[in-house]
Amino acid sequence: MSCYQSVTPELLQALKEAVPGRVFSGPEINEDFSHDEMPIYGKAMPEAVVEVRTTQEVSDVLRLCNQYNVPVTPRGAGTGLVGGAVPLYGGVVLSTVKMNQILSYDLENLTVRVQAGVLLNDLAEDAAKQGLLYPPDPGEKFATLGGNVSTNAGGMRAVKYGATRDYVLAVTAVLPSGEVLELGAPVSKTSSGYSLLHLMIGSEGTLGVITEMTLKLISAPKETISLVALYESLEDCVATVPQLMRSGLQPQALEFMEREIVRLSERYLKKSTFPQNHQGSQINAYLLVTFDGEDEDALMDVVERASEIALEAGALDILVADTPQLKKDAWAARSSFLEAIEADTKLLDECDVVVPVNQIAGYVAFISQISEDYDFAVKRFGHAGDGNLHIYACSNDMEPQSFQEQVKSFMERAYQEAVRLGGQISGEHGIGHGKLDYLAQAAGPVAMELMTGIKGIFDPNGILNPGKVCRRI
Ligand SMILES: Cc1cc2nc3c(=O)[nH]c(=O)nc-3n(C[C@H](O)[C@H](O)[C@H](O)COP(=O)(O)OP(=O)(O)OC[C@H]3O[C@@H](n4cnc5c(N)ncnc54)[C@H](O)[C@@H]3O)c2cc1C
Repeated sequence: MSCYQSVTPELLQALKEAVPGRVFSGPEINEDFSHDEMPIYGKAMPEAVVEVRTTQEVSDVLRLCNQYNVPVTPRGAGTGLVGGAVPLYGGVVLSTVKMNQILSYDLENLTVRVQAGVLLNDLAEDAAKQGLLYPPDPGEKFATLGGNVSTNAGGMRAVKYGATRDYVLAVTAVLPSGEVLELGAPVSKTSSGYSLLHLMIGSEGTLGVITEMTLKLISAPKETISLVALYESLEDCVATVPQLMRSGLQPQALEFMEREIVRLSERYLKKSTFPQNHQGSQINAYLLVTFDGEDEDALMDVVERASEIALEAGALDILVADTPQLKKDAWAARSSFLEAIEADTKLLDECDVVVPVNQIAGYVAFISQISEDYDFAVKRFGHAGDGNLHIYACSNDMEPQSFQEQVKSFMERAYQEAVRLGGQISGEHGIGHGKLDYLAQAAGPVAMELMTGIKGIFDPNGILNPGKVCRRI
């Protein structure tokens, strides 16, 4: 039995007064609000959806729900992959998509102030018009920046520039009590007590609702160039990664892809981009690498040195994508992997581990070996440069129950091995409620007790995104 109250007509009326015209209930609620992009972690309909526009509205909604003991689930674009935005206990979904204003640029300090519901793609395009780059580049460009900050999203460019956390200077966040907090400051360093800002970043909507953020920008590199290294052997392909990383060449992105998933993506896009064979040998794995810089000639030297490293490590050939169209095609195929997998299978589960870069080869071999014990298909790719691997179990024609039983055993082994190799449960997607048990096993009881203690201080009544990250109800 839930320890929460239902949304009463009285609460609904109070919400409607606080947020006029943007409160929806019962049949007015779109089914999309019951799940994110990974339905295997369950669906649950909220009793009300509130589309907020301002920090004051967020504060009013939280204060009311706290008073009525009704759970609130913050939601951005719902593109999460761990069930984080699923309203497990009903209650209110607080949607930020209408908080979509880019508020102001500070071109002297290279920062931008945005509302939480601004889409990553919109900021990227707007910043580019001014010769600026917002470096974090998660695969889903139509996620909100508030969602990115709340999950500490990573993405393709994390290998050179770091993850979202590294670009958040300050946020406005609302506590479950309705109190508004300003965390951080637009400064380049700080040593000013416990970093509540960094506690809020990556807390997946369990500690507070982020309403505005000050993000760091950089001057956009003038040139980028991509290369594709072709391998017959998957082992040679992944073994190249640590060599490239210690070469000092600083790739902006370094992705590893297997033959099967590349073919799947090409079929999905109805466009063939990557060669399948080279001089009679079948290509079984690819490295897709991007470099950026200010000078085209210097960049060509970098590409030449990277090519030598890859060829010495066993690559059969190197293709250089030096025109905008070639680069676009190569990255379009890579960016469509998840959609291609989703289109190809009924049910899907995912593991987003991160391991030390020099353990990738061993980890990939382990996954190949255990995959043989199960009836489902396993597809893998990853941000190889930072050791972040995405492993997908695809049910194909399996019965859902049998798939779920088998996948549980597979995931347990996959997570245990990642931790044994010095890795972590999630490199970028977060814990939500899909990965909570694996986090508990990996972090251990003391760390979990600290996390639940922190949650209790921010949210004594446990109304904010209950059942996620560290505490089942
Ligand atoms: C095709 C595809 C590719 C992807 N590629 C990547 C990738 O490369 N790297 C990566 O890291 N992720 C990736 N993702 C996952 C997803 O896009 C990210 O997790 C993203 O950060 C989620 O943002 P969102 O706006 O969709 O948040 P939602 O899914 O709506 O919410 C995610 C979590 O954040 C919380 N939340 C959202 N907004 C707020 C807020 N304002 N305040 C407090 N809490 C909030 C929610 O409660 C939930 O727990 C991918 C997803 C897809 C579908």
